[in-house]
Amino acid sequence: TVFIPLLRMAIAVGFAGVLFVGSYWVLKGTHGMTTAKLVVFSMLIQRVLWPFTRLGATIDEYERAKASAKRSIDLLNTPATIQSPLQPAPLAACRGHIAFDQVHFSYHAGHPILNGLSFEISPQTVVGVVGYSGAGKSTLVKLLLRFYDPDAGVITLDGCPIHTLGLDTLRRQIAVVSQDVYLFHGTVLDNLAYGLAEPDHDEIVLAAQQAALHKEIMQLPAQYETVIGERGVTLSGGQRQRLSLARALLKKAPILALDEATSAVDTETEQVIQQHLRALTQNKTALIIAHRLSTIREADHILVLQSGQLVEAGRHEDLIAKQGYYADLWRAQQTRLPE
Ligand code: ADP
Repeated sequence: TVFIPLLRMAIAVGFAGVLFVGSYWVLKGTHGMTTAKLVVFSMLIQRVLWPFTRLGATIDEYERAKASAKRSIDLLNTPATIQSPLQPAPLAACRGHIAFDQVHFSYHAGHPILNGLSFEISPQTVVGVVGYSGAGKSTLVKLLLRFYDPDAGVITLDGCPIHTLGLDTLRRQIAVVSQDVYLFHGTVLDNLAYGLAEPDHDEIVLAAQQAALHKEIMQLPAQYETVIGERGVTLSGGQRQRLSLARALLKKAPILALDEATSAVDTETEQVIQQHLRALTQNKTALIIAHRLSTIREADHILVLQSGQLVEAGRHEDLIAKQGYYADLWRAQQTRLPE
């Protein structure tokens, strides 16, 4: 910060000095100085000083680039704490049975997030996960994807502890729509087909229809070929989320995890997705973390979390009849959202 202003100041002071002393000598008639010589000298000195200013800017850019490169390289050199096992267990055709057995987890020691969480999800069922913000719902998905390992307890997929599976095998089984949607600078089609080895246009359109996005894409200037800006800035929050949902459907993974995926979606679109829910989750195990309880009302099973523990589980009607924690949550939302 200091470098360039200092350099400019030195140059300005030097130039002023030359003019001042030169003019003084011209007026006094000493040192053989004439007006012509002074003018030529001032012009030449500017020519010499300009590269110095430029050099200053270049050194400054170099320092910045060095700092950025160091940060990038440090990040790249950070060893991954989660490693794939050297001899991964085979997983033939994944059925989508998920089990958490006495799972304990904390991001920072002394601040437990999951406290002995146990539950089982049968293959090809739609399971809703509810609880207040901070209850550990997203953490559950992060652990299933093995972004972190539990401190204690075991998570299994089709009876196989997930830490014995290859990371790529495990993650190939799960399609995730998270709260943070990552889109790239490119066309709508590029973003939808991202990760597909052989994109099939009809399948892409079908996924967009299921995610209630197709109609809006058709209204864009170049439809599927419309370039969406960096991180999809030209799309609305809801559109970005539905694009991410369509992308997840295209992955055709046996497990679909929606993490508050409809939080930025307007009520109308949420209803469309709700109507398509059965089609979206056909032949899949679906784990739906819902902010609005209405989204998972039709789920086969609902897990109710409180402070990292399972407090209730069952179908919507049964949980309401129980008049427990879920019924309170439901009532609280009904008061806030009268519709
Ligand atoms: P939910 O999805 O139920 O709102 P989360 O699973 O996202 O809850 O978070 C549970 C708790 O863990 C929160 O208190 C949150 O602040 C904390 N948490 C989430 N992610 C991280 C992280 N990467 N590092 C530290 N704490 C985290």
